[in-house]
Amino acid sequence: MGKSGDTLVSIHEEARRERLLDMERRVRRYRLACFGILALALAVGGGDSLGYGWIPLLALALLGFSVADRFMRTSSRPALWIAGAWAALPALLAAAVFVTGGATSPALAWLALPAVTLGFRFEPRGMIVGTVYVTVLFLFAAIVPDPQLAWEQRQLLIAIAALIISTVILSGALVESDRAHRRRSTLDPLTGLFNRNALEQRLSELDGQPCDPFEGQSHAFVLCDLDHFKRVNDQFGHAAGDAVLQDVAYTMRAALRAGDSIYRVGGEEILVMLPGAGHEDALEIAERLRLAVRERRPVGVPVSISVGVAVAEPGVVDTDELLARADAALYAAKAKGRDVVYFDDYEPELAPA
Ligand code: GH3
Ligand code: MG
Ligand code: MG
Repeated sequence: MGKSGDTLVSIHEEARRERLLDMERRVRRYRLACFGILALALAVGGGDSLGYGWIPLLALALLGFSVADRFMRTSSRPALWIAGAWAALPALLAAAVFVTGGATSPALAWLALPAVTLGFRFEPRGMIVGTVYVTVLFLFAAIVPDPQLAWEQRQLLIAIAALIISTVILSGALVESDRAHRRRSTLDPLTGLFNRNALEQRLSELDGQPCDPFEGQSHAFVLCDLDHFKRVNDQFGHAAGDAVLQDVAYTMRAALRAGDSIYRVGGEEILVMLPGAGHEDALEIAERLRLAVRERRPVGVPVSISVGVAVAEPGVVDTDELLARADAALYAAKAKGRDVVYFDDYEPELAPA
């Protein structure tokens, strides 16, 4: 069995990326409300005595997240955008504390807010760095404006520092449980590929997206099905069948590019999504997948796949239609004798090896 380390890493990288984008999407809805409440609290509670220097600071923090939202979806490193927007928030909150009275500022405890979201955004090392960063900013904003006042308020300051650190620990525990749950619910346990849950999420994101091949915005679906797999089970046993499935999944994954995603959609049926691929790319990759499986002979068993390819028409993506076309092409490939790539309704010129 050739479980390539690279392959496992890229599957997990991809899962992490999807999870991060999903969490950001969920939080976005509530973020505006939180910023509104913070602004209201300062406006109502502070009045003229606090001044209004905090308004542009909060607005900047909100703007930072909007900019990150805009760019992270298309970025290959969404975590960097999010880290940038996240890091600006405690800095701007600290500045708001600074201008609203330092150790006596009503905004002091708000530095626990960025601590809440540390866990779901970053890995454990990032969480530690983030906690130190928030705590340092907190101490700076509380002590520097008036160290004498800070000393008098030390009990309050220690309590808030404890709140910030406890918040990170508790939110980290909740995130850990969310991670475990997601792993179970979006990854297929046998092959490590994404499962149907993950596919449905992805399809709903893709539906209605613009598709313009001349702008490099194209999408191709490649649907693969193992040939005569029932015979493999009958001949070599179900355990060998499982091992073949695992190895075929790893082989296919290793033959794909970084941004492609791969889903186990049925027992021995695998869907590959190729963002940015037009007709030629899709055919080439499909053929590469077919040959890779053929040459692999997982656990010594000769297996092959039949492949149906469909490429989105210019306009907007309709995933139901794309899936139906890929399925029809797969059906045609089976009818044609298997171990072949079929593309929509015509046979590619690439002859089977
Ligand atoms: P075709 O070339 O027409 O696709 O023939 P096939 O035998 O592959 O297709 P069929 O749909 O008749 O059978 C699919 C087989 O895949 C039946 C089932 O035993 C096997 N299968 C599905 N899921 C698993 C699995 O998780 N493990 C194993 N070992 N076999 C599985
Ligand atoms: Mg089959
Ligand atoms: Mg099948």
